[in-house]
Amino acid sequence: MKLNNLPSEFQEALPILEKIKAAGYDAYFVGGSVRDAILGRPIHDVDIATSSYPQETKQIFRRTVDVGIEHGTVLVLEGAHEYEVTTFRTEDIYVDFRRPSQVSFVRSLEEDLKRRDFTVNAFALDEKAQVIDLFEGLADLDGKILRAVGVPSERFGEDALRIMRGFRFAAVLDFEIEPATFQAMRETAPLLEKISVERIFIEFDKLLLAHFWRKGLQDLIDTEAYQYLPCLANQAPHLQNMIEGLSEDAQFTSSEQAWAMLLIALEVKDPKKFCRKWKTSNDFMKSVCQLVELWQLRLEGAYDKQACYKYGKYQLTLVEELRQLQGLAVDFALIEQLDQSLTIHDKHEIVVNGGNLIQEFGLKPGPDLGRILQEIEFAIVDGHLENEQEAILDFVKEKGRV
Ligand code: ATP
Ligand code: MG
Repeated sequence: MKLNNLPSEFQEALPILEKIKAAGYDAYFVGGSVRDAILGRPIHDVDIATSSYPQETKQIFRRTVDVGIEHGTVLVLEGAHEYEVTTFRTEDIYVDFRRPSQVSFVRSLEEDLKRRDFTVNAFALDEKAQVIDLFEGLADLDGKILRAVGVPSERFGEDALRIMRGFRFAAVLDFEIEPATFQAMRETAPLLEKISVERIFIEFDKLLLAHFWRKGLQDLIDTEAYQYLPCLANQAPHLQNMIEGLSEDAQFTSSEQAWAMLLIALEVKDPKKFCRKWKTSNDFMKSVCQLVELWQLRLEGAYDKQACYKYGKYQLTLVEELRQLQGLAVDFALIEQLDQSLTIHDKHEIVVNGGNLIQEFGLKPGPDLGRILQEIEFAIVDGHLENEQEAILDFVKEKGRV
């Protein structure tokens, strides 16, 4: 098969292939970008595979960066672009079902394509726009089928992350997992416990943000792979609720929002602990915990100025969107109105600070001073107190604090 219109991303990268070929080696576009080009989907990161060894690749180009020489990858800088150029390789030693501890560089494209995870990820594209399809990936693209390259159980046994990648691709592409591949995912799923949580998080996160996330999540449930993921063991009914309790066309606008929905569906009692088990960043944890907290608060009634001030308009909107997906009553206009009515959005905007109060009234630094500052902040946010020096000092006096 030949690609009729070589997408511009590949055209721009053609000089790289040509230079490698002129030096006497083979070079092809490979990986997800070829799959996406055939499907007519937007392309990101064009990856190149070559028979030249890293040191040889470096000789061919003027500007290169060693980004992963031990894995065979050299970053080639060409004009405004950069391309990962990776030597054909096989991955021969797997320890503990994780990433290979050692890769061998080879001169054969076929060997390289054989170690790739799914048939639809194992294409190569040459400089004449000819698609090389050694594993009937084109037929699978046509039939919307996700099939492991080679013997599925062996492939998942080598690297169990591929199981999660499988759910992710089913969710992104709206593909059905081929029965033998599905069965192997089911059988090898316990190996997920050996994979680093951070890598699983990345795949699960991509799954949740995908257009067809329901499909990926359903596969995760049906293979029982969820049993081996942090905090998800025995949670099938809750996971199922997440699929069935949201509107048909539900999509998440951010990772934090998607994970907050997951925690809400799971009725997680301690969101912080959940995020720690998933080893998320602190910022991510903070944001997800806030969303879950806000979602609870909102169940009790409409937002007020204090909530808008404390959590910010963006977080309130994310929660309101979740409510919409759940078919609950929403009021986006109120959020806008509350935000506009706030005279401050941050305590640093208050014109009087602790130092001023110490100077003015001879107060001592300590918890009492902290409480007075909090009262000022609360009253300004509520709209009872103007953010103006004289008014604030009067407020402190009236409160009998000095
Ligand atoms: P995306 O659109 O998310 O970038 P992708 O298919 O390009 O999807 P990458 O993670 O960027 O996925 O990997 C690039 C290619 O490398 C894949 O298409 C696949 O051929 C191969 N690959 C990546 N991870 C694995 C793995 N764990 N096992 C086997 N092959 C893999
Ligand atoms: Mg990619």
